[in-house]
Amino acid sequence: MTHPNLRFQARGHYERHVAKLHGALPTDSTPAVRIYEVSPRDGLQNESVIVPAEDKVALVRRLVAAGVRDIEVTSFVKPSWIPQLADAKTVIASLRDLYTRDDLRLWALIPNRRGLERAIDADLRHIATFMSASETHNKKNLNRTRRESITGLAEVIGTAKESGQTVRAYLSTVFGCPYEGDVNIEDTIALSLDLLSLGADEIALGDTTGMGNPGQVVEVVRRLTDAGVPVERIALHMHDTRGTALANVLAGYQVGVRTFDGSVAGVGGCPYAKGASGNAASDDLVNLFEAMGVHTGIQIDRLAAAGVFLAERLGRPLPGRYHQFHMGSSSDDDAQSQSA
Ligand code: MG
Repeated sequence: MTHPNLRFQARGHYERHVAKLHGALPTDSTPAVRIYEVSPRDGLQNESVIVPAEDKVALVRRLVAAGVRDIEVTSFVKPSWIPQLADAKTVIASLRDLYTRDDLRLWALIPNRRGLERAIDADLRHIATFMSASETHNKKNLNRTRRESITGLAEVIGTAKESGQTVRAYLSTVFGCPYEGDVNIEDTIALSLDLLSLGADEIALGDTTGMGNPGQVVEVVRRLTDAGVPVERIALHMHDTRGTALANVLAGYQVGVRTFDGSVAGVGGCPYAKGASGNAASDDLVNLFEAMGVHTGIQIDRLAAAGVFLAERLGRPLPGRYHQFHMGSSSDDDAQSQSA
């Protein structure tokens, strides 16, 4: 069954589109696209600086205040694997007032049954699982074959659904594998259908290495929908490693995708480090869509301010283009006010 929130947003977009065609102004403020914010988890786990739990909590609250409604706040992996997120329990406990709100979805990434148990113990209602579309990346990253991953996820996703959780299933390396190069779309289709049949509510297609291009995005989305994957259950997690994230997002939008992942100010991965993640910047996505008249529900200035807050905590410049524009225009304002 389609997750009710996703279906509602897809319908809301359609209604607004029809209203515009008929010359009527849209009468509701339902966002037409959904921006899924990954900075507290995917962003910070790829930064060398470990941000204190209280600053992570402050970041999440700033994102919520900007209007972000889906935030991946942490990961329940072994603390020794990812020391940047070792404070998952503290962060979650400090956000209890937010994740019980019906208009917000706070998500945690979980690697296995143990991680799921920790998420359930913390009363989290939204979890994300992960595996790769390519066999070699799955083996290198998760030390198991894709079939073994699906078998493990059958138990994890089944248990999560029985516990009333919403489940997002990440599929990495859909648009290219650092070991294998091209990834067979047939494999992406088969794994997506497997994950949906296990109970996943949403498939997040990851361009892990930023190798994707807009033509490929169109082809992958069309082939998936032709194979029976509802477009409202597809999310795109694009990376800007080669400067193609926004173009890929726009291509996805034009073939009906309405959920896009972003990391405020493009946080996640040092530009000088091998394996830099290069997350699409959520402020870039919001600016793009709002400029097109596609409502995101997010206030760009407040989102950009959250990015400035994070850049200060990390002590390094962040790569997002809107973020840099915002920093420049803020300092212009300062200069003008000083000269006035
Ligand atoms: Mg990422």
